[in-house]
Amino acid sequence: MSESCLFCRIVRSEIPADVVAETEKALAIRDINPEAPVHVLVFPKSHVASLIDLKDEAELGHLMALATTVAVEQGVGESGFRTVVNTRADGGQTFNHLHIHVLGGRGMAWPPG
Ligand code: AMP
Ligand code: ZN
Repeated sequence: MSESCLFCRIVRSEIPADVVAETEKALAIRDINPEAPVHVLVFPKSHVASLIDLKDEAELGHLMALATTVAVEQGVGESGFRTVVNTRADGGQTFNHLHIHVLGGRGMAWPPG
């Protein structure tokens, strides 16, 4: 747990969030600044700073499975969606608590602009 970490504070309900799914180990919330009609963040309830810091393969599997379930529940299972994990500075990670972006509801070019 981290005192000031945004995602840890959301887990502790210190900061409000639009929760779309929850398991014993993970939470899925709507991104406050969505870049697509569906933009959900899936993250572990316990503090893990980034993909580099995640030592438990099963936890990664749990998070990716939840991301997929959320995409289907949000109606983009058929049309398709993108999962993104930004890692550390060059990866564009701005909040140091591992999270998977689930983006869908519009076509997305690659590489992103
Ligand atoms: P990243 O740049 O990969 O660390 O992604 C951080 C994401 O968190 C960005 O897409 C932000 O829009 C999002 N974000 C920041 N603050 C909040 C918040 N209070 N609730 C939900 N999403 C947030
Ligand atoms: Zn945290």
